[in-house]
Amino acid sequence: MIKLLDNYMRIGYGYDVHRLIKGRPLILGGVKIPFDKGLLGHSDADVLTHAICDALLGASALGDIGQHFPDTDPAYKNIISTTILEQTYQLISSQGYEIINIDATIIAEAPKISPYRESMREILSDILFISLNQINIKATTTEGLGYLGKGEGIAATCVVLLSKTLQ
Ligand code: MG
Repeated sequence: MIKLLDNYMRIGYGYDVHRLIKGRPLILGGVKIPFDKGLLGHSDADVLTHAICDALLGASALGDIGQHFPDTDPAYKNIISTTILEQTYQLISSQGYEIINIDATIIAEAPKISPYRESMREILSDILFISLNQINIKATTTEGLGYLGKGEGIAATCVVLLSKTLQ
C-alpha cells in the first residue's frame, strides 16, 4: 500500500453490460435518453451507474454490486440506479473513503452520448459530493464490431481513485 502523507489511495475498476430491448426507457448516468430501445435489467439497468458502483466497491474492497443489491431480491426490482449509487456512496464513506476522481467510458453504437454527458456528470457528481472536474465520462463505439457494435447492448467501464485518511 502506497502511503502519501497521512493518506493512502485505492484504485477500483468496474465493468457492466446490459442488453438493449424495445419497450424500455434508456437511462444512462441517471439521465433518460430518447431512444427506441432501453436496457433490460432487474433495476433500471443504468449500466454506467452500475460500473461506477462496482468501481467504488472494488476500490474499498467491499465486493460488488450484486452482493449488496442482489437481482433476486424483490426490494431492488425496478430500483433507480442512482439510489444504488447513493447507498454505495454511504457504504464507502462510512469506511472513511473519499473520492479523488472517477473516469468512466460508455461503449455504445447508438445513441450519441455527447448531448447528455454534462447532465450525467452533474447528476452523478451531486450524488457523490464531488465537483465536476472529479468525474469524467467518455463515450466510444466498437466500430460496428461484435454485439455492442450490432446494438444488442451497451457496456460501461469505470476506474476510480479513493483516498482514506489514516487515523
Ligand atoms: Mg448491471
